[in-house]
Amino acid sequence: MAIYTAEHKQLMQMFHPTKHQEYSEVLSSLGSFMEKEILPLSPKLDAGEASLAGPRSALFGQGMSLIPFPTKYGGLGLPFSVYATAVELLGTADASMALSVEIHNAVAEGLLKFGTEAQRERHLAPIISGRKLASFALTEPASGSDAGTMATSAEKRAGEYSINGSKMFITNAGEADIYLVFAKTSKGPSCFLLESSSPGLKFGAELKKLGMRGSKTREVIFSDCRVPEGNLVGEEGRGADYAKEILHGARIVVAALNVGISQLAYGKALAYARQRRAFGRPIADFQLVREKLADTKIGINAGRLLYLYASRIKEMGGDYASEASQAKVYATEMSLKACDDAIQIHGGYGYTTDDLHRHWRDARLLTIGEGTSEVLRMLISRRELARSQ
Ligand SMILES: Cc1cc2nc3c(=O)[nH]c(=O)nc-3n(C[C@H](O)[C@H](O)[C@H](O)COP(=O)(O)OP(=O)(O)OC[C@H]3O[C@@H](n4cnc5c(N)ncnc54)[C@H](O)[C@@H]3O)c2cc1C
Repeated sequence: MAIYTAEHKQLMQMFHPTKHQEYSEVLSSLGSFMEKEILPLSPKLDAGEASLAGPRSALFGQGMSLIPFPTKYGGLGLPFSVYATAVELLGTADASMALSVEIHNAVAEGLLKFGTEAQRERHLAPIISGRKLASFALTEPASGSDAGTMATSAEKRAGEYSINGSKMFITNAGEADIYLVFAKTSKGPSCFLLESSSPGLKFGAELKKLGMRGSKTREVIFSDCRVPEGNLVGEEGRGADYAKEILHGARIVVAALNVGISQLAYGKALAYARQRRAFGRPIADFQLVREKLADTKIGINAGRLLYLYASRIKEMGGDYASEASQAKVYATEMSLKACDDAIQIHGGYGYTTDDLHRHWRDARLLTIGEGTSEVLRMLISRRELARSQ
């Protein structure tokens, strides 16, 4: 199965008429690596029979995380849409790997935008090259969508901050070397960079999940966790703005990830519909089966165009918050339907085959994580009402 297809290539040509060959080479090479090294491992990652760590390092070695970052820090300096497309390909190869990598990259984007030059020089190159794994810690046991009500506190004392509290559902926690942590100071939510060796930093047990089982999710606990003053990212009290800005970009990428999951489920549904026979003919001959295949194909193309559109606005320096959320809401909900239809087309085998229902289980996370569909619909409507004034 080719992960980087002629359709992706054509879209690169449309979105980047002068540089598409260069971008396509990067994506085609990453796609081939994913096909050989990650896609075959995916069922084992889901079953807990393989670890993400080794193949993720190998993927970093292929330059996956370098794509959108400036050459000054060792990145490739390519457009965000090229990076988002790479995450789509990774979503096809293994969704849990794509989740782990997109969160890692979101931290790098946050550091690039809001970190000091000293923080960027020290941490960006190791993160984007994958020598250090990063984790983003915003959600708490009692505050998710309403992140402004966070209870985790950071108190300044003698040249350092003491952080107390905990963060819930944190991807890459326990494995990561760097944590971007949001905690309240007297000025409001603020953002800090923590290293895994920080005193007072602990982790809960690995959480059992419906899907995305290759990636690790844990609680992160801070007990008088000491952080040097120089690890404050940006300004005290601006953490909520930084988190929002980081999440806008991440939502484009989550949309791409879900298009990738849908693409794989759709490929399996197409193949099965051709091969499975009922009433003397392939089930692909039945109009009601064809309707599902047609709707999934429309959904995949629409989801892809939405995330590329949001990426392009971001590349052009525009306000892309609404478009990023539109792409995420649409692609994540479309993906659930695409995976559900793939199960339906497989009949009883769809319900009983791990390697098929895992696509639905993986996709199920993303109408929740990084902004629930409900909250994003509020964001979209708020922005669009403001734009229409
Ligand atoms: C596997 C996994 C990995 C994750 N990884 C990370 C990570 O790396 N870093 C991180 O910081 N977080 C992470 N999260 C947390 C995730 O982002 C949150 O779960 C998500 O933001 C929702 O928060 P919540 O779970 O507290 O739900 P809540 O905010 O409590 O929402 C519960 C329900 O209420 C609805 N709701 C809330 N407010 C409104 C409203 N105003 N109007 C209508 N409906 C509303 C929500 O849409 C939802 O349906 C992860 C979660 C999971 C499950």
